[in-house]
Amino acid sequence: MTDSAYQKCINPACGAEFDYGQTLFKCPACGELLDVQYNWDKVRLPNKLSEFAKRWASRDNPLDFSGVWRFRELLNFCEDKYKVTIGEGQTILQQNDAVAGYADMHPGCLYLQYEGLNPSGSFKDNGMAAAFSHAKIVGATSSACASTGNTSASVALYAHHCNLKCTVFIGSGRVAFGKLSQGMDYGAQTIQIRGDFDDCMRQVQDVCAELGLYLLNSLNPFRLEGQKTIMYRIIEGLGWQVPDWIIVPGGNLGNSSAFGKAFSELKQLGLIKQIPRMAIINATGADTLTELVNNKKLTWNAGKVEQAIIDNYYADLTARNFSPHTCASAIEISRPVNLKKCLRAIHICNGVVRAVTDEEICDAKAIIGKFGLGCEPASAATIAGLKHLRAEGIVEADDRVACVLTGHPLKDPNLTINYHKGKKGKFSNPPIEAPNDFDEIIKLIK
Ligand SMILES: [Zn+2]
Repeated sequence: MTDSAYQKCINPACGAEFDYGQTLFKCPACGELLDVQYNWDKVRLPNKLSEFAKRWASRDNPLDFSGVWRFRELLNFCEDKYKVTIGEGQTILQQNDAVAGYADMHPGCLYLQYEGLNPSGSFKDNGMAAAFSHAKIVGATSSACASTGNTSASVALYAHHCNLKCTVFIGSGRVAFGKLSQGMDYGAQTIQIRGDFDDCMRQVQDVCAELGLYLLNSLNPFRLEGQKTIMYRIIEGLGWQVPDWIIVPGGNLGNSSAFGKAFSELKQLGLIKQIPRMAIINATGADTLTELVNNKKLTWNAGKVEQAIIDNYYADLTARNFSPHTCASAIEISRPVNLKKCLRAIHICNGVVRAVTDEEICDAKAIIGKFGLGCEPASAATIAGLKHLRAEGIVEADDRVACVLTGHPLKDPNLTINYHKGKKGKFSNPPIEAPNDFDEIIKLIK
């Protein structure tokens, strides 16, 4: 089983390969990102994706219950004895006509994938199930991550399940309340750095190298293998068919990178006929991908990405002392570590990139809350972005669209309370002050 997987540099000019049992987060030869790759001829694959449905009948086996490991042949890097699961991936793909109407889609065409239903309340658990399995393979004893919040919650939960020590780096004042509370409650050592997420990301890489900690940011290629399964579950939710569009928030770009890889592999294996298109939605206050792709015309270019465009853009951010700002803290990132993998995903999925304002995000969030199961602010960027793409005619009203709602509404209660109680938006629903008087209360409700 284990000779089926290896790590490979994404830079085609390098292409260096490494054993799956090594702990590497960048190619030692050229410094680019690494992928997990498979010798597919050594994997016993199903003939069609619907065969995975059989595992529902044996869900008393935790690996068949896991929304990650029940697709284990498609992330086949790990013997069963190392596989970690706490019941992640029991998520819902909900068709939602009320939200469809808000986004100018026809009834029956819009689906919401609620990743907030994971154990720690965000999509990160998919990735952690896979990455902590790798941590067990390599015998790691301590783990660390930089986080805008969701990663720290998920890492802390999985680390202690696996009996690993856990240190999380967060930017001061930049983490939503719900997420911060989770990290502390799950027992993580929380280090608040005076800086933003990008500062934390730089620090954690150096600290991990110095102290030999296992790094759980999405630089970790095994994490992205777990996140591929979000796409398998969307396909499952659609009766084993692919949608026309996947829409995902863009922060550190791990999800979009994982989704592109998932579809590329499924197509290569003959398990899907067509790859859906992908839209990645930034916040306007953290819109590096939008700037680079739409304005600077940066592309994957068969792996020969024009590094000078990126370097110049980042130099300009530094010169301006730029720090990203959006209410959607999960995507408040200006130097996304998975940028090049995301460019590859955009190429694979004929993708588009858009940026939406905080106001649009908050209004869309209120609509998802009122008519759906709710979500954290970054997740709502998908619906706000879909409105743009409908207005531009890029997405058709009868296309089948799946939006990935990455986190639970209770992740960021402050924003929700401010929006409603502070009457900040079009859909604010503030509480009504009433005297302690029966007749007056009746008058208000009638
Ligand atoms: Zn390399």
